[in-house]
Amino acid sequence: MRIAIVGAGSSGMFAAYKLMQNNNFSIDLYDKGSDIYKRTRKEVMSGFGGAGAYSDGKLTLTTEFGGCLTEFVPEYKLEKLIEEADSIWKNISGVETLESTSNYEKIKDLEYMCTRNTLRLYAAKIRHLGTDNCIKAIKKLYEILNSQSNVNIYCNKQVSDIIIDNGSAKGVVTEDKEINYYDKIILAVGRSGNSWMHEIAQKYNISSSINPVDIGVRVEIPRAVSDHFTNNLYEFKIKHFSTEFEDEVRTFCVNPGGYVAMEENENGLLTVNGHCYKNKKSSNTNFALLVSTKFTEPFREPVKYGQYIAYLANMLSGQSVIVQRFGDLERGRRSTTSRIAKNFVQPTLKNAMPGDLSFVLPYRYLTDLKETIYRLDKIMPGIADPNTLLYGVEVKFYSLRIDVNENLKSKSIENLYCIGDGAGITRGISQASTSGIIAAEDIKNQYGKEYTSNE
Ligand SMILES: Cc1cc2nc3c(=O)[nH]c(=O)nc-3n(C[C@H](O)[C@H](O)[C@H](O)COP(=O)(O)OP(=O)(O)OC[C@H]3O[C@@H](n4cnc5c(N)ncnc54)[C@H](O)[C@@H]3O)c2cc1C
Repeated sequence: MRIAIVGAGSSGMFAAYKLMQNNNFSIDLYDKGSDIYKRTRKEVMSGFGGAGAYSDGKLTLTTEFGGCLTEFVPEYKLEKLIEEADSIWKNISGVETLESTSNYEKIKDLEYMCTRNTLRLYAAKIRHLGTDNCIKAIKKLYEILNSQSNVNIYCNKQVSDIIIDNGSAKGVVTEDKEINYYDKIILAVGRSGNSWMHEIAQKYNISSSINPVDIGVRVEIPRAVSDHFTNNLYEFKIKHFSTEFEDEVRTFCVNPGGYVAMEENENGLLTVNGHCYKNKKSSNTNFALLVSTKFTEPFREPVKYGQYIAYLANMLSGQSVIVQRFGDLERGRRSTTSRIAKNFVQPTLKNAMPGDLSFVLPYRYLTDLKETIYRLDKIMPGIADPNTLLYGVEVKFYSLRIDVNENLKSKSIENLYCIGDGAGITRGISQASTSGIIAAEDIKNQYGKEYTSNE
């Protein structure tokens, strides 16, 4: 059986890893970016290893966030699959330990403190590979896959189209007009493949629905301000519903002792992110604060909206991202190089341009974000300090969500699986890897059935 996997990020790599164990399968794994040895940090989103390659490698081991796989797979089953994905990461990376979440009494206290301030805390087990170990693990995964006689890895090969015949996926067309035919196709194109996924869905009437877009800022504070949270659960996931708009505002991707990073998206747009090394720490902690918006009819292009906001930030900062002191934002003035130089919290992202986020973020977002910062200040005093740094903008493009069944197979096209962030069903390494396992298991099961019935 011939199988194509488009995209070699967490979801695509894990699908290949599971499928390679069956010698009846011949697997072609395509990625539009470079292989893991030739990739540079400029290619943050693309290349073997996907967006996870230069990430913090924080595996959030929960069914509750990092994706919506619970909508397809029963909770008890999903827990086991997440464990399986985690154990593969553990073996490959050699990172045996989980971040501390064992102090239940302390976590209960923190939960109570959040509840009293109309915040909700979600605690989860975390395996933190760290940016350094993450890249090593992906190199190892590359070597394992590359050494299999039934796996071909094609990097720097963009898939530009798929072949659909009679409601069934039959093949892929590459950018250089090569046509290859397959029995099963797995689309695992990640966030950098969102727009392409959109085009393909429209072209072939692949049923889908709209996901929210998350827009906000990255907050950077002295490490000591949030140590009582991060020492006990490493990553705090906190949600708040804003008073004026009742929007969901949440913390995301917490990096204790971490670094703020700039990421280049497709179209060259620059947005903010954060990461943290296992063995090298800064004196700051950073995390994203994001407002979720789900647009209603007639607007169906949340990605474009997010891109527009990011474009404004890039335009005003001279093709960079903006950094602003919270005190300056509150006083209605821009931050300047000299104000940042005097600031108690020194930016870990050195080439962000001091500026004014109020020219970029719509009133609704600014109000939601400020309100949440003041709420967070009640449980982590010091967050609403004038020296706190805000970087903008951080945008999470989830694009449209492909309608898939419990095996992550398209509901409208036969033999087509849509997995990972590109299908709009996951948002992190753990669930993305798990989605690869789910699709691979279904292909294995189907092959078993087809093979027996053909005999
Ligand atoms: C800087 C950064 C830090 C992050 N930190 C964390 C973290 O600590 N923990 C966490 O859980 N998550 C983190 N994430 C998110 C995480 O990386 C993603 O959720 C995860 O990588 C999704 O996996 P995926 O396989 O769905 O997609 P991706 O990893 O995005 O992989 C998709 C791949 O498909 C390829 N592709 C796209 N279109 C095509 C095409 N047409 N033809 C061929 N190839 C194509 C791309 O080149 C890419 O390599 C981070 C992301 C970034 C950018």
